[in-house]
Amino acid sequence: MYKLAVAGTGYVGLVAGVCFAEKGHQVTCVDVDEDKVALMKSGVSPIYEADLEELMQKNHAAGRIDYTTDYKAAYRDADAIFIGVGTPEQPDGSANLSYIATVARQIAESIEKDCLVVVKSTVPVGTNDKVEQFIQDFLVNNVRVEVASNPEFLAQGSAVHDTLHAERIIIGTESEWAEAMLKEIYAPFYLPIVSVNRRSAEMIKYASNDFLALKISYMNDIANLCELLGADIQDVAKGMSYDERIGSKFLNAGIGFGGSCFPKDTKALEYIAKQNGYELKTVKAAIEVNKEQKTMLYKKASKRLITFNGLKVAVLGLTFKPGTDDLREAASLENVPVLLAQGANIYAYDPVGADRFAKEFPEGQIDKGTITYVSDIEEALANANVCFIFTEWGEVKAVLPHKYRELMRTPLVFDGRNIYSVQDMQDAGVEYHSIGRPSVT
Ligand code: NAD
Repeated sequence: MYKLAVAGTGYVGLVAGVCFAEKGHQVTCVDVDEDKVALMKSGVSPIYEADLEELMQKNHAAGRIDYTTDYKAAYRDADAIFIGVGTPEQPDGSANLSYIATVARQIAESIEKDCLVVVKSTVPVGTNDKVEQFIQDFLVNNVRVEVASNPEFLAQGSAVHDTLHAERIIIGTESEWAEAMLKEIYAPFYLPIVSVNRRSAEMIKYASNDFLALKISYMNDIANLCELLGADIQDVAKGMSYDERIGSKFLNAGIGFGGSCFPKDTKALEYIAKQNGYELKTVKAAIEVNKEQKTMLYKKASKRLITFNGLKVAVLGLTFKPGTDDLREAASLENVPVLLAQGANIYAYDPVGADRFAKEFPEGQIDKGTITYVSDIEEALANANVCFIFTEWGEVKAVLPHKYRELMRTPLVFDGRNIYSVQDMQDAGVEYHSIGRPSVT
């Protein structure tokens, strides 16, 4: 078993650290955020992920995981250091590598024995080469240090499960030493390992994410065409899904992809291509379709209503997808401000994301409208003039169609996630508009 350190305790770093501990390694998780570290030390997860808190407590009690802001102590004698800090998008679409650079420098100043540095964060192709050089440039002690790429493929909402049961582990190394050590670290997971060089590993991450983003944008494009032609995207997707070459996943049309990965990773790869004199036309198209898609529902609703001014607007779901408290690039962030600017009185429901959303949009008057957070969906719907569904939470799906008719002042629903059958809404007497399917008017 190895002594590991993990830099960054976000969705990737914390989940990786906890799962390494669960598999028997000795893990120290490092973060610069003191509040986060204090929370984790007390057994509380700073992020919402199924099973995470339970495993944190179990492995902490077993003495296999600890949390600190003292990076020197954590990195000094680690066999391997995994980097899971953020690589957010910059205004020009490129990835911000400043957090990676800071960690690299901290590692260079701290390590006192041979060490493998493993980059889990999503970074542009060639970054690992630079990180290795950077560490060597700032190295204080005479030790061997190598950098390996080990991109992460977990999906938020099922991060622990995805890590423990990953379909593949990608390792990108430039020496047998690094390859052998990473294989040993992952041996207790009993998962398929694909070993390639560092640049290919970096590219596998972008190529995979962007392919999925492309699949979503393609289905949204087709959904928009379905609306014009009277076809139903859900039936179309079902028909397509039987073809094994296409597969059944990522065929759901909706109001576009969000989250911390697809939006930034599509833009980053487009940027990398441009830097290298190449135009990545497919990915560019996926980005454009997604941008338009985010406000598709609002545009539909604007056509149907004269104004939102003074209307009670129920908003169901704020996070970018169910199972997470993450709001990054969520459709709600695009639509709520426009509704508020139009004078809407929003009653927003989200089972886990409301507190975070309220930090950006505090309860009360904003712009010409107001926002109120409710913990009960029925309260949001009561007497509402219109309802928007932005996230397909189980709690939202559980609302029966007739409830919209009974509770709302006018049963007018704009569903960005196609969670209801058109027929059921029609039978319940609800005016229903969704994505890529016939409307009930
Ligand atoms: P995040 O923003 O949730 O977490 C990053 C953490 O790093 C924060 O807690 C921050 O305080 C900490 N940090 C910053 N500087 C630090 C330093 N010098 N030392 C220690 N900690 C430091 O990020 P995330 O969502 O976990 O993503 C991390 C990386 O993984 C990104 O490159 C992302 O693209 C990639 N990724 C994310 C997902 C996902 O679903 N979130 C999936 C696969 C890959």
